[in-house]
Amino acid sequence: TAATNNLEAFWMPYTANRQFKQDPRMFVAAKDMHYTTSDGRQVLDGTAGLWCCNAGHSRPKIVEAVQKQVAELDYAPAFQMGHPKAFELAARLAALMPSPLDHVFFTNSGSESVDTALKIALAYQRAIGQGTRTRLIGRERGYHGTGFGGISVGGIVANRRTFGTMLTGVDHMRHTHDPERNAFSRGIPENGAEYVEDLIRIIQLHDASTIAAVIVEPVAGSTGVLIPPKGYLERLRKICDDNGILLIFDEVITGFGRLGTPFATDFFGVTPDLVTTAKGLTSGVIPMGAVYCSADIYNAFMTGPDHMIELFHGYTYSAHPIACAAALATLDTYEEEGLLTRAADLAQYWEDGLHSLKDCPNIIDIRNLGLIGAIELEGIAGEPTKRAFSAFLKAYDEGLLIRTTGDIIALSPPLIISKDQIDELFTTLRSVLHAID
Ligand code: PMP
Repeated sequence: TAATNNLEAFWMPYTANRQFKQDPRMFVAAKDMHYTTSDGRQVLDGTAGLWCCNAGHSRPKIVEAVQKQVAELDYAPAFQMGHPKAFELAARLAALMPSPLDHVFFTNSGSESVDTALKIALAYQRAIGQGTRTRLIGRERGYHGTGFGGISVGGIVANRRTFGTMLTGVDHMRHTHDPERNAFSRGIPENGAEYVEDLIRIIQLHDASTIAAVIVEPVAGSTGVLIPPKGYLERLRKICDDNGILLIFDEVITGFGRLGTPFATDFFGVTPDLVTTAKGLTSGVIPMGAVYCSADIYNAFMTGPDHMIELFHGYTYSAHPIACAAALATLDTYEEEGLLTRAADLAQYWEDGLHSLKDCPNIIDIRNLGLIGAIELEGIAGEPTKRAFSAFLKAYDEGLLIRTTGDIIALSPPLIISKDQIDELFTTLRSVLHAID
């Protein structure tokens, strides 16, 4: 049709690999572990969409809940008004999070969750008389969405340099002395441990009394599945505690079972002051995010001291009834099917399959945790990302959806994946990696 032939009207599908323009691949349907393409093929979902469809696709319980909700109560304002599912969802999420993170603020995306968490952190510091603490610290190669807050604290210079001055007073902890390389991993669990000390350099540079919060992804996802060395997050927590700095975990990818525990905070046994989530909260079905923190921090933001009484924060679609219904049905599905811990049961099988690829050509690192994994490929001189991009196209043709970020292939299948499907995924990938050599 004319509408589907006009591929220029919405061209975001091109932008993942600007240097290698491709026609967008069209999906027309999805069910459980598979997408159906416009040419009628089945594609195994190796990435849970964009790291979000943790319960798989178009699951009947979630579909029914959404249909029922839209027919019953399509919308309710979240200011002055409310609806019961918002409170039910908040209570269920609070119960899932470790204490004291039992207060929830609803957003519509990961980027909004990050903006909200940064604002809550700044407001809390001010409310407790620490108004000089205005600096925010992110990390090189951190990804926190594409809002102004997220690109400011995010560690990807390319995502922000076009836009001039970002949030001021932001520093980025070093991730490695060689920004082109991933110091975390390369098969050595201790690698990169020293980089947490970079926070101390920043504290010495600016003085702790100027720093409000540090934000990190417990496992960085979009920049290539960077798994922190043992002790890194504990050490980060300790440095923050010692210096009155709030710690924010961005769990937009790691939340909702990706590592085999409900959240990465459970997996690592480190409790931050704020957590951001989105994606898996509704298993990708409807946009929704949530920020979690303690009552103290939440109340400081919501009611605050006198000078904050006029502060307003929230969104037209905060706690949208359809999103709440989708999230509640998603949580039911996770619980009934044991999906929040399933990655733990499959982790070894996943690891064995992934590492069986190590004899394939051009691989310089393989890393994994829970049901997340990455294969880092040797770049082709002068043609960065070409090899991974070719792998993406080839895999798609062979019936497998993978994600590429730079020269890294990232994998994060829905948590319902079977062992046979894990075998199929790695068999296809083996053939892809040989074919693109
Ligand atoms: N934070 C992290 C860790 C993410 O991975 C993402 C999305 N990939 C975001 C924030 C932004 O989420 P959204 O695209 O929903 O705004």
